[in-house]
Amino acid sequence: MHELSLMAELIKLVSEDAHDRGIIKVSKIDVIVGDLSNVLPEALEEAFIYLRPRVEALFDEQTELHVIREEARAACRSCRTEFVPDYRIAFCPVCRLPTSELLSGETFRVESYEGCDEDGN
Ligand SMILES: [Zn+2]
Repeated sequence: MHELSLMAELIKLVSEDAHDRGIIKVSKIDVIVGDLSNVLPEALEEAFIYLRPRVEALFDEQTELHVIREEARAACRSCRTEFVPDYRIAFCPVCRLPTSELLSGETFRVESYEGCDEDGN
């Protein structure tokens, strides 16, 4: 389950940034997960729940993980038709050529997170 190491990395990133900003509690993390990113949102959430109490005082049971799905989109290099591919390499539905380029769907990153500092901001 590589989601566990991805989640650990993600928590580390958020923690470092939160420390820099003087944030003492993180209430919510928004993560973008592309349909072709090889990351399973369910496994990511399980990893989050597992890691949450073990890592940082920044996180507790109230901290939410919000997964935003990014739909896969591809465009054909020959006829410029845009379509939803099932895999990274996909055949154009119009001209049947496997020359599409992925426009979206491979993203895995933190979109934003919410937290408060000692003054409650
Ligand atoms: Zn085409």
